Amino acid sequence: MRSIVKNNNKINGKVILVGAGPGDPDLITVKGVNALRRADVVIYDYLANDKLLAKCRAEAEKIYVGKKGGEHTLSQDQINRLLIDKAKTTSVVVRLKGGDPLIFGRGGEELLALKENNISFEVIPGVTAGTAALAYAGIPATHRAEATSVSFITGHEDPNKPESGLNWKAIARMNGTLVFYMGVKNLPTIVARLCKNGKLPTTPAAVIHWGTLPGQRTVQGTLANIEVRVQQENIKPPALIIVGEVVNYRNAMNWFEHLPLFGRRVVITRARAQSSELVRELESLGAEVIEFPTIKIIPPQSWQALDRAITDIAKYDWIVFTSVNGVEMFQQRLNHYDRDVRKLAKTKIAAIGPATAERLRLIGVRADLIPEKFVAEELAALIRKQGTLKGQRFLLPRADLARSLLKDELEKSGAIVDEIVAYRTTLAAADKDKVLHELNNRKIDAITFTSSSTVSNFVDMVGKDQLNCLDDVVVACIGPITQNTAEQLGIDATITAQEYTIPALVDEIVSYFQSINLEGKS
Ligand code: SAH
Repeated sequence: MRSIVKNNNKINGKVILVGAGPGDPDLITVKGVNALRRADVVIYDYLANDKLLAKCRAEAEKIYVGKKGGEHTLSQDQINRLLIDKAKTTSVVVRLKGGDPLIFGRGGEELLALKENNISFEVIPGVTAGTAALAYAGIPATHRAEATSVSFITGHEDPNKPESGLNWKAIARMNGTLVFYMGVKNLPTIVARLCKNGKLPTTPAAVIHWGTLPGQRTVQGTLANIEVRVQQENIKPPALIIVGEVVNYRNAMNWFEHLPLFGRRVVITRARAQSSELVRELESLGAEVIEFPTIKIIPPQSWQALDRAITDIAKYDWIVFTSVNGVEMFQQRLNHYDRDVRKLAKTKIAAIGPATAERLRLIGVRADLIPEKFVAEELAALIRKQGTLKGQRFLLPRADLARSLLKDELEKSGAIVDEIVAYRTTLAAADKDKVLHELNNRKIDAITFTSSSTVSNFVDMVGKDQLNCLDDVVVACIGPITQNTAEQLGIDATITAQEYTIPALVDEIVSYFQSINLEGKS
């Protein structure tokens, strides 16, 4: 959808005003994501989760124009100007705003400015904080008996203004739910005005900070004590104030804050390209994930050895894939030579762990053997069960640093083994200072290691003399080999998964924190 409006012979692009949703990046609409995917420029706010920028094309220009507290990066006029200028030079400009763009987001002002300048636009609504944060705090916005209406009200009015723009008498009389946006600073005034105009001090009230995100915090009380509670809990903006009987349902309906990993902050150290499953699983259980990739996957120094093996693939009786990366690199080289998996018709295939097997299935290969654990002795024994190994030829595409115990084991039984470097792992260039600071300040609950290289790279990155940063942190390892590496490097593993898989690792983390919760500690 390019080049819509002709204006003085110039062809303008279009601005799409997109609601980013309340915080949880999964709460954007499908249409909103599609707009991000085709954006040439994205102009985004403080309340729009910047994780959403990952949906954009790498070459899309991303411009932050947010305002935090009272600090603006650009004034509203400057933002309007920027939208107009960008629309005149690019095709698709996405204006990404928190929640719904037309609910207290000044989206209307932006549309008027575009209209005046003959720039065409579309609006993609979003899930507003005023319903989503309530849902995540276990508060129904309406409920049959107690609340038959819900009002979204600005809490941002200057309390010293002689005449309020709001009809407080009418507001106080409403029996429905009142939701105040931008009202934390004015909470005392809001409470005073409601009570002065007839709301009972016993009316239930709640304040929700960073709703729908792992850092969500909710305080609950009544109009009489909500101010004190907010102060005690040091709740800051952004937050919503909810007033009405529906707040009491939170006792029964609060689900998000009861997820097993809610409030837990977990560092994951695997390569960014491989982290999505672990991130998704941890987040769906309520954890806040801090990505600290210690590894980057890169091609081998030369493709020669792998290419030769692929050319001669028919000579191998077995290929043992030990990782998803090995499968990916193998596939890449097959493609490079315009070949496909039919070349493997006569070869038996072993895949270590279900993730490797799944990756093979994606290229149409069903592994003959899928051992759960990567323990060389056990794997060799399993292969032996399939027939004698004497004189059998094995191809092991693996990482440059992987251990060669499997080769030794197989050779002991008379197999002929070619170990080939299919990819290398290098130290990722992640910014260590922030994570180290959080670890040292006890802001992290757990750290996960999903391979030996994640451990050794972590140690290289933070430095051996800094390892006491892990003293109070739960160290979770994916399997015994990783645990071993950790221990050799001076890191005590708290948890080791029974099975070499991400779901098993996550299960162990959940059980660990559940047992801690049961003990009443946190
Ligand atoms: N357009 C946005 C609102 C922008 S006004 C929407 O539809 O949600 C900014 C105010 O919204 C904040 O001061 C706060 O009151 C509220 N808000 C936005 N996101 C929030 C969140 N995740 N949790 C709690 N309040 C939020």
